[in-house]
Amino acid sequence: MIVEIVTTGTELLLGQIINTNAPYMARRLNELGFDVLFQSTVGDNRVRMTQVLSAALARADIVVTTGGLGPTQGDITKHVTAELLGRQMYRHEPSLERIRSFFAARKLTMTDNNIRQAMIPEGAIVLDNERGTAPGVIVEAGKNTVIHLPGPPHEMEHMLENSVIPYLRDRFGLQGTILSKVLRTYGLGESSLEERIKEYVKNQGNPTIALLARNAEIHVRLTAKASSGAEARALIDGLEGRLRERIGEFIFGEDEDTLEAVVGRHLLAKKLTVALAESCTGGLVTSRITDVAGSSAYLAGTVVCYSNEIKTAAVGVPEAVLAAHGAVSAETATAMADGIRSRFGTDLGVGITGIAGPGGAVPGKPVGMVYIAVSGPAGTSVFEYNFTGQRSFIKHRTALAALNHLRQYIDLL
Ligand code: ATP
Repeated sequence: MIVEIVTTGTELLLGQIINTNAPYMARRLNELGFDVLFQSTVGDNRVRMTQVLSAALARADIVVTTGGLGPTQGDITKHVTAELLGRQMYRHEPSLERIRSFFAARKLTMTDNNIRQAMIPEGAIVLDNERGTAPGVIVEAGKNTVIHLPGPPHEMEHMLENSVIPYLRDRFGLQGTILSKVLRTYGLGESSLEERIKEYVKNQGNPTIALLARNAEIHVRLTAKASSGAEARALIDGLEGRLRERIGEFIFGEDEDTLEAVVGRHLLAKKLTVALAESCTGGLVTSRITDVAGSSAYLAGTVVCYSNEIKTAAVGVPEAVLAAHGAVSAETATAMADGIRSRFGTDLGVGITGIAGPGGAVPGKPVGMVYIAVSGPAGTSVFEYNFTGQRSFIKHRTALAALNHLRQYIDLL
């Protein structure tokens, strides 16, 4: 069953309100196994709404709209459908009665234009609105089913859950289940990642594979359609296993996992503690680590050591190392990681130093040069990066890289 979601309202086109109805309905209908293949948004304009609804009727079996059921002349959704399907509008007395009692119960005066809300296309199923005045309607017409729901999200959601979904289940039966799982990767670009799994991407069927670049991470989304949740899960598990053989080392988490949450989980599981010495990131890595509730169980603390003096005094970086190699060097990052680990008495230490720009470059050390060291029971590893871009971007990328190195180090222990 192909579904098109049509959200209506000029406010949506003007960007004055955020369209939350479309994703809500899409998620719920997908969960029930319907194929939501189109979404459109149109203003309260009769000509354009006619175009959008007639296109939707031609390409979808079920068209679900929100908005435009209100009392004003701008509220035209039902009227456009009636016209397109050749139905008369009539006054639905039970709805009018409900609207009257809605106003009476609130001691409000009902104006004549509210009668408009009780106008229904001939032959339509009327859905009571328990949270507002405008009833919803379902119009069955040949291969098409058109469902009009009110715009206010709390009214739409209530009607969708209590009237529309039971109706769809009764009328169309179980559509099976669509299940998605996201494998979150870090450390490979989109094309290198695709190259490694190209045979699966090229020959995809059920599950489908989509690669999505998100903030320096690449997400691999697997979506399976099956007649039951268990069957869909088994399809996903099978493909996931094969993908992990190719890109497993880059997968740090699933679905809503963040790098900092994964680092936290792994530190907790191995009962390890960490301390950081952050220079160019100014505490950004620590900020992310502390975004995770319960991080006090594994984070001892951080020194943001911007100046050479503080690197020496608070972290224990030898003056000789700074003098010989400079603040931005593998040697300094190593001394920062070792120093903070020993001063704070933690299992692991992280040292981060670099040039976030736009100034500060020296010959041989361009803006974006960053060193990240991780110190621990398996020795100290240090990594060099040469990022490009603006200061905030370099800081952000450095923070992600540091979290990822910490994650990889913990995994080896
Ligand atoms: P009413 O019965 O209130 O007149 P309606 O069915 O005519 O409702 P609209 O007038 O289109 O709906 O929208 C009413 C309000 O609902 C909007 O001002 C907005 O706050 C909210 N709304 C409408 N559409 C959406 C949407 N797609 N996503 C989020 N909110 C929405």
